[in-house]
Amino acid sequence: MRIAELFERTEPVFSFEFFPPKTARGVETLYQTIGQLRELEPSFVSVTYGAGGTTRDLTVDLVTRIRSEIGIEAMAHLTCVGAGRTELAAVLDELRGRGIENVLALRGDPPRDRDSFEPAADGFAHAAELVAFIRAREYPFCVGGAGYPEGHVECRDLAMDMRHLVAKVDAGLEFIITQLFFDNRDFFAFVERARAAGIHTPIVPGIMPITNLVQIERFTRMCGAAIPPELMDRLERSRDDEEAVREIGIEHAAAQCRGLLAGGAPGIHFYTLNQSPATRAILRRIRG
Ligand code: FAD
Repeated sequence: MRIAELFERTEPVFSFEFFPPKTARGVETLYQTIGQLRELEPSFVSVTYGAGGTTRDLTVDLVTRIRSEIGIEAMAHLTCVGAGRTELAAVLDELRGRGIENVLALRGDPPRDRDSFEPAADGFAHAAELVAFIRAREYPFCVGGAGYPEGHVECRDLAMDMRHLVAKVDAGLEFIITQLFFDNRDFFAFVERARAAGIHTPIVPGIMPITNLVQIERFTRMCGAAIPPELMDRLERSRDDEEAVREIGIEHAAAQCRGLLAGGAPGIHFYTLNQSPATRAILRRIRG
């Protein structure tokens, strides 16, 4: 099913994001995790695309198996990192051949040892070009893209970042999933800016429950999301108590989700980090 159709329904669209594990054993563990989350009835799940296309085959295989064996709608992420038009077309052909209907079209991050993104020869500098490529070649996919409530790390001018998002939507995006954030005011202000700029697609907030302080500090450094000081203070006080950190993270994420849905968000996209307990606990709390 095309994900855009899910947003035409009245009930919230809950989705879970996974990344392809590095080992065969990891893949089997992931299947167990997804199997456990199945009872939570996600509307769809998505599978990320590793840096430089390193997970290309795994991403394609995982979305195919999740759809056919577990029976959940699955979306493949795709990035422009290290790939020219021929390689990108090959992945898109493969996805179409396997009956995948949904693609999250991304530029991708520069490799760790580089300061800025370098497009591959004959490749794309921005996600908007990938979206236009998908449309120009008349692939039948429902295409989503990324949005940044606090601005993208490379473009902290919020107005300019919004202009770039408008270009991406004009190229053919049907929905937007946001980067993780911890203060709902950032999301609502982002939606307001997007609507004022003429974007009318669904905008789904991306939520990452904090389960580990060191890990979340690394993520927020990378993606530029801010942890509100009062939340950081609470986490700091429990730094040496993993269980307490997890509980604070779940409580905060559940409160965020309640506020987002009450404020009109069409659903929640959970960055699960391939773990099910936190997502399960949050959904249990918000579904009451
Ligand atoms: P773009 O939309 O191209 O934006 C990138 C930067 O370029 C922004 O600063 C933007 O303002 C600027 N820009 C855009 N157009 C122009 C223009 N015409 N001129 C000048 N500047 C411009 N990464 C992965 O590697 N694999 C994944 O699976 C993955 N999944 C993700 C899922 C979600 C929901 C999100 C939010 C992010 C994901 N990412 C993933 C991370 C993403 O690849 C990075 O955030 C990346 O740095 C930007 O990708 P983008 O598609 O948003 O790029």
